[in-house]
Amino acid sequence: MASPPFESWLRPGPAGLYCAPGDFHIDPAGPVPRAIITHGHSDHARPGHAAVLATADTLAIMRLRLGELGQTQALAYGEPLTVKDVTVTLVPAGHILGSAQVVIDYQGQRAVISGDYKRHADPTCDPFELVPCDLFVTEATFGLPVYRHEPDMAEVQKLLASLRDFPERTHQVGVYGLGKCQRLIKLIRQAGYDRPIWLHGALRSMTDYYVARGLDLGAVPNAMDATDKLAGEIVLSPPSALGDRWSRRFADPLAGFASGWMRIRGRVRQRGVELPLIISDHCDWPELIRTVTETGAREVWVTHGREEALVHELSKRQITARALRLVGREDDSE
Ligand SMILES: [Zn+2]
Ligand SMILES: [Zn+2]
Repeated sequence: MASPPFESWLRPGPAGLYCAPGDFHIDPAGPVPRAIITHGHSDHARPGHAAVLATADTLAIMRLRLGELGQTQALAYGEPLTVKDVTVTLVPAGHILGSAQVVIDYQGQRAVISGDYKRHADPTCDPFELVPCDLFVTEATFGLPVYRHEPDMAEVQKLLASLRDFPERTHQVGVYGLGKCQRLIKLIRQAGYDRPIWLHGALRSMTDYYVARGLDLGAVPNAMDATDKLAGEIVLSPPSALGDRWSRRFADPLAGFASGWMRIRGRVRQRGVELPLIISDHCDWPELIRTVTETGAREVWVTHGREEALVHELSKRQITARALRLVGREDDSE
């Protein structure tokens, strides 16, 4: 007997993906009775759900960002949980601390909703785990062939070389506050840099959380507490603070930005970035194709990003693919 279509039990709707036999949404766009959240970025973890199921780290990150959450249940990686008529398992997505793919088993079929994920090694979170499945739901933030991320260490070496070339200038690097900030600090440490790395206040609470969870980041003082203009030092800030009034306290600040978008010259110019660092917490194009292929899924649904290009590429490879066009997903937090 043919299996029922995936749409009969997993439906894209106005609030996001809804699993009917389990009666829950995954990363819903607005408040719902029961939500499973893949990770703490704001386009996935929204406020107002009556009940939330996620990893303990994602719940803690959500509390830091959103305050109290209502009813919560923490689920460890790899621990199957029966939810009404389905079995739910969370497995690492390799995106940020606590990030999970949601594996749903129903009547002999398996769907994997990967949330945001990457295959590059990341010292700040558990590595992506490949789960063979029938239906794979993938993001496509960097779903164009032009997007190819560089080896992270080569990008960090660019930063360190610039510090040697311009010791009289403060190197202010824009980073997203959850994930990228802590990963960049760790990469800089792994490159052997042991001076303090100064932080904008907006990066403090998440960085402290990562440290509390056991990540050694070395000295990360507040830039506001510096007694001089931090010439030749590294300062991390949200991207919005680049070239902003806040930067005027520093010595001829040199603007860097660590993001997968830095592959695109227009974005570099538009942001006034002198030192683009192509470091991303998402898959690049080859990683997207490789991952989808490796899951063995016979059907693939593509969410936020460049959906059409990936759908087209997969169709060429005889994989049934469709664009979901879920609302409210813009991966700026990349
Ligand atoms: Zn994300
Ligand atoms: Zn996202």
